Amino acid sequence: MNFSKLPLTQAMLTNLDTLGYKKMTPIQDAALPAVLEGKDVMAEAKTGSGKTAAFGIGVLHNLDVKKFRVQSLILCPTRELADQVAKELRRLARFAHNIKILMLTGGESFGKQLGSLSHQAHIVVGTPGRVLKHLNKESLDLSNLNTFVLDEADRMLDMGFIEEIESVLSFMPKERQTLLFSATYDGEVKKVAKEFLREPVIVKTTADELPNEIEEIFYACSDKLNTFVKILAQKKPKNVIIFTNTKLEAKELAEKLIEKKIDALAIHGDLEQYERNDVLVQFANGSTPILVATDVAARGLDIKELSMVVNYDLPHTEETYTHRIGRTGRAGAKGIAITLYSTYEMEKVEPYKSSEKRLFLEADTLPEAKGFEMKPEFVTLVIEGGKKDKLRAGDILGALTGEAGLQGKSIGKIDIYDKQAYVAIAGDVIDRAYKYLKDGKIKNRKFSIWQL
Ligand code: AMP
Repeated sequence: MNFSKLPLTQAMLTNLDTLGYKKMTPIQDAALPAVLEGKDVMAEAKTGSGKTAAFGIGVLHNLDVKKFRVQSLILCPTRELADQVAKELRRLARFAHNIKILMLTGGESFGKQLGSLSHQAHIVVGTPGRVLKHLNKESLDLSNLNTFVLDEADRMLDMGFIEEIESVLSFMPKERQTLLFSATYDGEVKKVAKEFLREPVIVKTTADELPNEIEEIFYACSDKLNTFVKILAQKKPKNVIIFTNTKLEAKELAEKLIEKKIDALAIHGDLEQYERNDVLVQFANGSTPILVATDVAARGLDIKELSMVVNYDLPHTEETYTHRIGRTGRAGAKGIAITLYSTYEMEKVEPYKSSEKRLFLEADTLPEAKGFEMKPEFVTLVIEGGKKDKLRAGDILGALTGEAGLQGKSIGKIDIYDKQAYVAIAGDVIDRAYKYLKDGKIKNRKFSIWQL
């Protein structure tokens, strides 16, 4: 786990030592040998794992300081992250004089960036929209690039940046090293890794290989609805999928929850495709905390961070049970799986008692939940414009954080489809965002806006 086993210059090793990096973190130990061999690497790593140094040391290793051209590009999803990455790179680059690292992110003066670019740089750290703008205006030249890093790839995809990234890639030499870092490695990220990387070495740290950590509790109860509310009040999960066995029950349960001031949406086989999409988008972007679902309707549903799964009805088989609860507690996060059963379902519950991990409790032991309410974190606005209108996540983000004056943190997930875009906006600024988008313009065009 010592840096000294890597083929690094003495100056770099001394600098790492003065930074207090005595030993490699697990992700550095796993990724750096391949990174330094010049291989493409796909690494599953979270913020705080030391991932910036895992690619940063590689970027600096590939750098020819005497050649004053952009040799590395690091794309990050947000300005804040780009700023953190640039800071860490500057610390890592202290071993040599004159390494110029330039930030190109949205929300900053374009003219100032043009000025900096005219003085050249070795490494550019930026956000996709702004980097693409410079490439289109030919103020940024990537023909000398040898290393491309995509940081927090999963968040980039969440924010709808895929098209911008693909366009940026078209400006790079084909002969290059590509490093992709992501907190999760599934579905969409896998697809992108396949598209962007050449025979990548796939790296995970052992911490990420931990099996799902799920707390499994069964409650015997006479009133399932009230028991569920009490559990919400006690555990305060961020988001929940609750399973019923029939679509009618799913619909009714969502209505009953709303009556109790618990925000919920149902997904079941009777929905049209567009309605299904509206529901899934709202659940995935935090505009509703509870999704009531049937097994069939939940098929293919891939929510990254799910705090709780509830079996409102006992599943027909234990296999279905395992499948349902496997959606929570992913990637090292803790999950909760609750199963509610009534007295006449006692027998059906028996087989589940073979696992000692499972806790069997009486609902009476739960505290009362007087006055408990559950509201969503975000509200979804729909913009009647999408990929076909060349609308991109950066355009929407730019309109909202620019003239509308919203803070980046008030804007959540942006999903862009062919003809529509969905934007999650924090509840406290929704009126401002709605008014601005309704009266103002995005990319110099007017679009119809409505709230889901
Ligand atoms: P990151 O995951 O890149 O955001 O890094 C998390 C923090 O760990 C940063 O503050 C780094 O400066 C620090 N760090 C990175 N690598 C090491 C290491 N090998 N030893 C000690 N600290 C480190």
